[in-house]
Amino acid sequence: MTGSSTGRSTGPTTGPLVEVRGLRKAFDGTPVLEGVSFEATEGTVTAVLGPSGSGKSTLLRSLNVLEVPDAGTVRLADDEIDFGTFAGLGRAQQKRQLAALRGHSGMVFQSHHLFPHRTVLQNLVEGPVQVQHRPLAEAEADAHRLLDQVGLADRAAAYPSQLSGGQQQRVGIARALALHPDVVLLDEPTSALDPELVGEVLGVVRDLAAQGRTMVIVTHEVRFARDVADQVLFLDGGVIAEQGGAEVLTDPQHERTRQFLSRVL
Ligand code: ADP
Ligand code: MG
Repeated sequence: MTGSSTGRSTGPTTGPLVEVRGLRKAFDGTPVLEGVSFEATEGTVTAVLGPSGSGKSTLLRSLNVLEVPDAGTVRLADDEIDFGTFAGLGRAQQKRQLAALRGHSGMVFQSHHLFPHRTVLQNLVEGPVQVQHRPLAEAEADAHRLLDQVGLADRAAAYPSQLSGGQQQRVGIARALALHPDVVLLDEPTSALDPELVGEVLGVVRDLAAQGRTMVIVTHEVRFARDVADQVLFLDGGVIAEQGGAEVLTDPQHERTRQFLSRVL
C-alpha cells in the first residue's frame, strides 16, 4: 500500500495511475477478455459499460487479481504484474506481487459481502487491522470518519441486517475506502438494489468523484456515467469496442454502442 489517507499515491510513479495492457482471459478455453488495454489518470472516473457477459466483471476483477488473467499487464501506481510470466514465478514471488498490486485497490461488489455477525464498525476495521496491521484505535477513528462521509455516522453499532440495502452498500463503499486504496473498483454497485435505493448509493459515488477519488466503475446507469465519468469504456465480446469521454454515451460512433444504449436508456 502506498496510499495516504487522501488516497494519493506516494510512490515515484509518473504517468497514469492505472495502466492495463493486452489483458487476456479465457474460462475453459472460451475467451472472455481478448486484449484489453486502457489507462486511467489519478483523480478520474472510468465507467465500464457493455452487455451482460461482455467481460466487464472479469476485467474489473483482474485489476485486483480476483481473476488471474492469462496474459497482459496490470499496473496500479508503482506495482505491476505481467501475467504472461506470472504463472511461471515461484509461490513466494507470486504472493509478494499479488499483495503489492492488491494493496492499491478497494473493491465494491454488487452485493455488499459484509460479515453478518459483526457490527458496521467491526466490518470496517477488519481489513485495516487484520490485513494491513494498523492499530485498532486508528482504524476505528478512520471508520467513523468514513461512515460520516457515506452518511451513516449514527449506524456504527448496527448489524448489517438492521440496515437497508442502500445503507449496506454505503457501508460496502466505506469498507473499500478503509483500506486507503489508490483506486476504488465498483462492480455494478446499485444493480442489486430496489430502484428507490439506487440514488443514495450513486450520490455517495458522486461525492467521491467530486473529491477526486480515482474510480473504475462497472455500471448500467447511463445517465450517472454520463455525469461523472471522465472516461467511458464500452466493452463488447471481450474487447473495448468504443472508448472516449462521456460523449461515447451521448454520441456513440459504433453501431453496437448505439444498440446497447438504445436498450438501456
Ligand atoms: P459481465 O460482467 O460483462 O456480465 P463477466 O466478466 O462476468 O461479464 O463474464 C464474461 C463471460 O465469462 C461470461 O460468459 C461468463 O459466463 C464467463 N465467466 C465469468 N466468470 C467465469 C468463471 N469464473 N468461470 C467460467 N466462466 C466465467
Ligand atoms: Mg458483471
